[in-house]
Amino acid sequence: MLSITHGQKTGCTGHLICICSNLKCIGCHCVVGVVVNSTPQHLDVLRSVFILYKTSINCYILNSKRTVKASKLTFDFEPLGTTINNLKQQVEALSVPVSLIRKRLSERSTSSETCD
Ligand SMILES: [Zn+2]
Repeated sequence: MLSITHGQKTGCTGHLICICSNLKCIGCHCVVGVVVNSTPQHLDVLRSVFILYKTSINCYILNSKRTVKASKLTFDFEPLGTTINNLKQQVEALSVPVSLIRKRLSERSTSSETCD
């Protein structure tokens, strides 16, 4: 279980400041990560993201039913930007059929108005 403590500012240049809250373990009160509350506009995608420190957490491995330090694991994730670009392409691919449906509905309503 985690608790959230109030904002702390992080940043090194004085221009690009994110406001984060600490995530603390309820049991031992250690800070195990942060949640990003506020970001500059170009980092919008990071808002509300929970960032856990690998050195502070343990992972439960489902298949082996073991608990290990997260720092001993490697995670094979795609960079976030790649995932977001893939999602954008999927949304754009879906938006074409929706626009066709709208067009057909508007044509249908126009033709039914003229039939009366
Ligand atoms: Zn703890």
